[in-house]
Amino acid sequence: MPYEPVIGPTSATDITLVPIALPYRLRWVNCYAARHTDGSWTLIDTGLNHSETSIQTWLQAFHALEIRHARDIRQVLLTHMHPDHFGMAGLLQQLSHTTVFISARDREAARIAWMEREGRSEVMKRWFVGCGADTPLATEIAAYADITAQATEPHPTRLRDLDIAAPITFGGRSWRIIETPGHSDGHVMFFSEADGVLLAGDHVLNRITPNIGLWPDGDASPLRRYLASLDSLLDLPVRLALTGHFEPIEDWRGRIYEIQAHHAHRLSWMADEAGSGATVYDVARKVFDMESLDIHQMRFALAETLAHLEFLAESGELVQEQRYGQRWFRPA
Ligand SMILES: [Zn+2]
Repeated sequence: MPYEPVIGPTSATDITLVPIALPYRLRWVNCYAARHTDGSWTLIDTGLNHSETSIQTWLQAFHALEIRHARDIRQVLLTHMHPDHFGMAGLLQQLSHTTVFISARDREAARIAWMEREGRSEVMKRWFVGCGADTPLATEIAAYADITAQATEPHPTRLRDLDIAAPITFGGRSWRIIETPGHSDGHVMFFSEADGVLLAGDHVLNRITPNIGLWPDGDASPLRRYLASLDSLLDLPVRLALTGHFEPIEDWRGRIYEIQAHHAHRLSWMADEAGSGATVYDVARKVFDMESLDIHQMRFALAETLAHLEFLAESGELVQEQRYGQRWFRPA
């Protein structure tokens, strides 16, 4: 069954789903509007500003929720800096004159990736050549990343750091902010202890496993940090996780076990595929059906493969070396 979400209530009181269409095979991002007891609204994640439909969907949601005045929107919270979550933040800020909050780490990452991207496509191109992509493919990936960056404009002018240590109040609840690195270095979730509702962003998803990639300027061990984070979240008493994509998660532990098993399997598979020596691209070709992927997915497949190979190199299972400007991995 394809996922065909519509604007409407979630199973969590006072939290409305606002799905924004995406120009990717991953067709939707789930954003949320949470109504507070004083009648103010908090928006969580924003969508990608790739076409008129994104803002039209938000305006439809405001109409349906009877949000009539800019001042009714108290704040915009972002779980992370990826374009499908960050991309409409600036436009929503222009409409509502409100402040946008994100973790300090992802504010910096957003600045590098979206706001000051001078020379960025050259950095991306070199990165993917280093992964073993040929120059035309690396150039295409870099150009696509630049188009994606344009879909995050206009950028928010008031972008503030979330105070991770303090609980935050919205949607009639007090929420604890939980740092959950992996999918992005500064990814956060919001957890309501009182009723077990979690705004999970893309940390744990149904149907797909969140992309864990190694990117230029990013953390050197994203997969290690991600797996450690999943482990530490097993006992979180989650009743309902409202996620950044696809249906909500009710079996929190069960879904974490599945994702852990997926990565364990991927790690041993990729270790095998490194054979007597391979580039990131060589290994990715064997694990992903590269011919069926679009350029956006290919970028993620390479970054994901690199994250796994680096994990294996760090664990001592593989050795990494540079050959002709490319990263090579071979058994230790
Ligand atoms: Zn996402």
